[in-house]
Amino acid sequence: MKLALGAILICTTFAIITAIGCKKNNSNDNSGGGTGNTGGAVSITTVVTAKYKSAVTVAVSGSTITMRSNGTPDHVSPYWLAGHALYEAQIAGQNTNPGNIGVQNYAMTIPTNPAEATSKEATSLGPIGMALNGVAIYNDREGGNVPVDANVLKSFDRAGAHPGPGNSYHYHFTGDFIGNDNANLIGFLRDGFPIYARKDNDGSYPSNLDANGGHVGITADFSTAIYHYHAANTAYMGSRFYVLKAGSYHGTKGTFTN
Ligand SMILES: [Zn+2]
Ligand SMILES: [Zn+2]
Repeated sequence: MKLALGAILICTTFAIITAIGCKKNNSNDNSGGGTGNTGGAVSITTVVTAKYKSAVTVAVSGSTITMRSNGTPDHVSPYWLAGHALYEAQIAGQNTNPGNIGVQNYAMTIPTNPAEATSKEATSLGPIGMALNGVAIYNDREGGNVPVDANVLKSFDRAGAHPGPGNSYHYHFTGDFIGNDNANLIGFLRDGFPIYARKDNDGSYPSNLDANGGHVGITADFSTAIYHYHAANTAYMGSRFYVLKAGSYHGTKGTFTN
């Protein structure tokens, strides 16, 4: 009896801390239906806290998490100013734009338990998520809300990123650092759902992605099935790059301020 009570206490405590353990008893919403825990039953708090790099400050407040970063990458780029330790010269085929990597003051606030939205909102220009290193994630479009074209494509560094107005450096594509032909966790989008590289954890390319590039399943980080996005598995305009995210959010987007 004492043992059972202890187990319940440990279980409950664990569930409060992680909201992953003992999930069946703590599901606050299963409205996602029969496709898995798409209705906010899975907390992302533990993974967010563990996986964001030290350059990103993570703060949990009630049912939201806020990540703050200065938006600069932890890898090489020709967009660092010459002389910076991470500066590298552009490589063949690149044609960098006049910007460089500038310090930002990002704050992204997302739900601890992301849930599917009944009406899916299209992603728009500007930050749609934050990579684990604190760099902003953008969709497949550029100014004028048109898809990245062949000219703009040359402006991307090996990271699949470039600076925009205000020297806000951001990823549109997978590139060489955050994840590409693997199952890396890349970051989280503004609706709170995680985004992964092109593969699932079993090494396969997912074949059942929905119109917004996601599906429900377990990942290396989530042992309970959760909706997650994947980078596209088609080379963009025959280039070395793969779009991180196009289309709409699966859930309801939180705020991203700078
Ligand atoms: Zn851009
Ligand atoms: Zn997957």
